[in-house]
Amino acid sequence: MPNAVPIRYIIVPRSPEAHLFEVTCTVDDPDPNGQGFALPAWAPGSYLIRDFARNVVAAQARSGRSSVPIAKVDKHTWVAAPARGPLTLTLQVYACDPSVRAAHLDASHGFFNGPSVFVRVLGKEGRACEVDIRAPVGSRYRSWRVATTMRRRHAPMYGFGVYRAASYDELIDHPVEMGTFTVARFEARGIPHDIAISGRHDADVERLCADLRHLCESHIAVFGLPAPMRRYLFLVTAASEGYGGLEHRDSTALLCSREDLPRAGIREASEAYRVFLGLCSHEYFHTWNVKRIKPAAFTPYDLGRENYTRLLWAFEGITSYYDDLQLVRAGLISESDYLETLGRSITSLVRTAGRMKQTVEQASFDAWIKYYRPDENSPNAQVSYYLKGSLIALCLDLTIRSRTRGRKSLDDLMRALWNEYGKTGLGVPEDGVERLAERVTGIRLRTFFDRALRSTDELPLRRLLASVGIDMRLRPAESAADKGGKPATTPARELASRVTLGVRVTDDAAGARLTHVLDNGAAQAAGLSAGDVLVAVDGFKVSAANLDRRLARHRPGNVATVHAFRSDQLLEFKLVMRAGPLDTCTLALIADRAAGNRRRAWLRLRG
Ligand SMILES: [Zn+2]
Repeated sequence: MPNAVPIRYIIVPRSPEAHLFEVTCTVDDPDPNGQGFALPAWAPGSYLIRDFARNVVAAQARSGRSSVPIAKVDKHTWVAAPARGPLTLTLQVYACDPSVRAAHLDASHGFFNGPSVFVRVLGKEGRACEVDIRAPVGSRYRSWRVATTMRRRHAPMYGFGVYRAASYDELIDHPVEMGTFTVARFEARGIPHDIAISGRHDADVERLCADLRHLCESHIAVFGLPAPMRRYLFLVTAASEGYGGLEHRDSTALLCSREDLPRAGIREASEAYRVFLGLCSHEYFHTWNVKRIKPAAFTPYDLGRENYTRLLWAFEGITSYYDDLQLVRAGLISESDYLETLGRSITSLVRTAGRMKQTVEQASFDAWIKYYRPDENSPNAQVSYYLKGSLIALCLDLTIRSRTRGRKSLDDLMRALWNEYGKTGLGVPEDGVERLAERVTGIRLRTFFDRALRSTDELPLRRLLASVGIDMRLRPAESAADKGGKPATTPARELASRVTLGVRVTDDAAGARLTHVLDNGAAQAAGLSAGDVLVAVDGFKVSAANLDRRLARHRPGNVATVHAFRSDQLLEFKLVMRAGPLDTCTLALIADRAAGNRRRAWLRLRG
């Protein structure tokens, strides 16, 4: 029914103090056998069953003046009794999730991601939708505005009023912020891009716009003109702390610390600001890769249950590769900054023993029960499809460049994915990325993909990095704070004689709490367990902060006496100390002219 009346929604911050949105949904021609309504079990982009219906505090239905009985038929579905006229379902939704995936409302601002508040009208998901976004009542909310990329129907720019979407799928892909926020605008390749920052901050917004413009233009150049969006919005919440982002078709919702944003008058990009730009870069790349180039398993999404795909390495991993790469290509970070970041990623992978147990395809398929539900054993049992996926993308790019003598690159594959799948809306089959990669580059990649995606063999990082003039070395960590990417300041011989327990710790009032006990470490061999609280080493009190110092007297092979509480029991352990593993990566340039030229072409460095 193309001319059918749209599904009409109203969302009102009914009680900001109690964190309650009231959401109504009106359907003019309800199913004569009883109309079903359902809230999604998950939000696209975040592969965990969240059961948004758990935040529904009350539900009722009316038709005209009469109330209509409703029955809950499963955890997220309501069915209203047959009604002849327009039927309205009203939900009171509790909104107190500070992440970018759900909804939050208090007297300072409101935010919602569509899947957490808008019900799907079963059988009418393709119908156009209208949403009346209303302001909370009261003079204290007079300065509130609305930021969203949903199309306006009867609403001023950045104002409350009626918005529209072509379907339910589109309706839930435009997050909405309401409150007071800073707005700035820049254009990238003729497309207006806005950045709306809520939360107190003193960011240099002009600088931010200039940097983001370079970044966005660099992404648009990867996929080619025209870019697929009419406008784009970076929806930023600056808080005391926090980090996260969620991609949408025309926008992204980002959470960052206000310290991450650039301060006025400071030209040098702080490490925190580089990380923030990396987050913007990641979510913006998703505008193409996962929002439009999608796995067939997501075409369309089944919002009622898990949607399984082995392709998240491509959608999250390739995106994670480009997020930092584009920063150096756009001139926002230096070559040495990039190598430091890359060295840190390699360090993280080498420190994940789970890479020897789980393939990246398995990690992708099991995202719903593993990546999104990490526990104390995760580093031993799992590998991240973001992290390993980004390094597979690096290896794939360097392999294509080397075997085609620089004629082709991963950029060609991304453009082909965009043309074949993104522009057409066809879903990418499970073997689609691999087949297209061979077709576009003209080289056989079967062995590469079998190893990288379907085995736990180490990636050929050292050899491929050498082909672009980068020397990769592994050394022991200097301390628990050493994330890699930089040469050690400790002399090599001293570093080699240092010992480690093979644990990750956090502060505890009584000592150092073991959050993770790593495979092949001294602590695991002695029988220590995650959750144990170390209280003494060799009879001296320890904390998370002084543990490294307490261990410094030992050499590999020494035996240390360790006391720890497991629950309320004090236990004694004899630990045979082990040398720190070679798990920390540093990257350095090799003086080789031809390789250097290949590196400059890859990173698009001038000179
Ligand atoms: Zn992502």
